[in-house]
Amino acid sequence: MTERPTPQTMGQQYGRRSWAEPWKIKMVEPIAMIGREERERALREAGYNTFLLRSEDVYIDLLTDSGTSAMSDRQWAGIMLGDEAYAGSRNFYHLEEAIQTYYGYRYIVPTHQGRGAEHLISQAAIKPGQFVPGNMYFTTTRLHQELAGGTFVDVIIDEAHDPTNLHPFKGNVDLDKLQALINREGADKIAYVSLAGTVNMAGGQPVSMANVRDLRALCDRYGIRIYLDATRMVENCLFIQEREDGYADRPIAAILREFCSCTDGAWMSAKKDNLVNIGGWLAVNHEDVFDLARNMVVIYEGLHTYGGMAGRDMEALAIGIEESVQDDHVRARVGQVRYLGDLLRDWGIPIVLPVGGHAIFLDARRIYPHIPQDQFPGQTLAAELYLDSGVRSMERGNVSAGRDPQTGDHRYPALELTRLTIPRRVYTQAHMDVVAESVKAVYDARQQTRGLKMVYEPKYLRFFQARFEPV
Ligand SMILES: *Cc1c(COP(=O)(O)O)cnc(C)c1O
Repeated sequence: MTERPTPQTMGQQYGRRSWAEPWKIKMVEPIAMIGREERERALREAGYNTFLLRSEDVYIDLLTDSGTSAMSDRQWAGIMLGDEAYAGSRNFYHLEEAIQTYYGYRYIVPTHQGRGAEHLISQAAIKPGQFVPGNMYFTTTRLHQELAGGTFVDVIIDEAHDPTNLHPFKGNVDLDKLQALINREGADKIAYVSLAGTVNMAGGQPVSMANVRDLRALCDRYGIRIYLDATRMVENCLFIQEREDGYADRPIAAILREFCSCTDGAWMSAKKDNLVNIGGWLAVNHEDVFDLARNMVVIYEGLHTYGGMAGRDMEALAIGIEESVQDDHVRARVGQVRYLGDLLRDWGIPIVLPVGGHAIFLDARRIYPHIPQDQFPGQTLAAELYLDSGVRSMERGNVSAGRDPQTGDHRYPALELTRLTIPRRVYTQAHMDVVAESVKAVYDARQQTRGLKMVYEPKYLRFFQARFEPV
């Protein structure tokens, strides 16, 4: 642990000395809670799926931290400087420079959002029949790997699958699992290692610098490349600063450069860490992959100097990247998530621990032990929360995991969770209090709660559009 005073430790040292967000509010958007009967109607019409609710019917929206950040006054000023040339926009070169400066990769391909970049890297770097080992799957990432003919193999440490295990780096790759895969299949059957910072599906759990260094060494022995899902990498860097020896005095920006230098490239959903409402990018160090990706981007996204973004979007993104690596910003962002987590933990409500960087994950399996997993406890909890207070969360359990392409059965993941995701720079501490109190009310009524049955199931990424009814 660090000796340097942080906003949190200062509070303990001097009695009640709170920390606060490093910004003030310049423009507001009114929100309101609709009545209980209207919420019941809205939820029924949405098929008990929070993705199908209208935003207007939501009070506090914790569905996702994707594209929901508040931009700064500087970013809004950047919007006015959009160079909307079809080719060679000035804003593209700003973006390219920001990615090279803060992430350190050589070649940049802009995309409309993260999955656009996942599509390009999967098509450019996976040959049909190859395996893609990674530290736990992510929904869109794995699907693009499968559509490219690859097979995802989970090589995260076992601790990640246990929501009560307090390991400080539950996102780490288990190098023995990776070695066993290489031994079994041969290095030429490994497309690349798909490494994610703060593993979303494990509860926002970080990867240590030691782990990525060891991973680099192992991959170098076999000539295997490492591509990073950098979506929430700055949050990962805060955990390294707080928990790993030798990093307490290193700025987030320096930790980010060091971590990325152990990888061969990254894809990014700029809608998360990078503080914009839309955007993404792929960045790589090798010319072979870059050539392929830059050629493919013109088929699927747009010319390689805009990739589906307007010039103004690229300008806001370039500025957002610089703001996203500031230490006070990252501390306040993760600090707000921890504030909510501490309230819930103190009330004995089962959540995934340690609390991750972007969200609180309620452990629906332990909250509803009487609801079988094929009646979707995580989905049920999200529905109950909305009914109680108009707070919107999302399922991260059996619905999100989808079906096994071989057997056709549900995947029944070990983690059956409901996610309260905190947008960046949007809500105040008072909003967090209201959310915590609503979770408590739903938790107290848990014994009377019954599960859901799925009545409509789309083929791809079913959690977005599936519909349910009470059993
Ligand atoms: C959101 C997300 C993606 C996909 O990005 P989009 O911008 O939503 O297309 C990929 N990986 C992770 C970890 C994400 O959270």
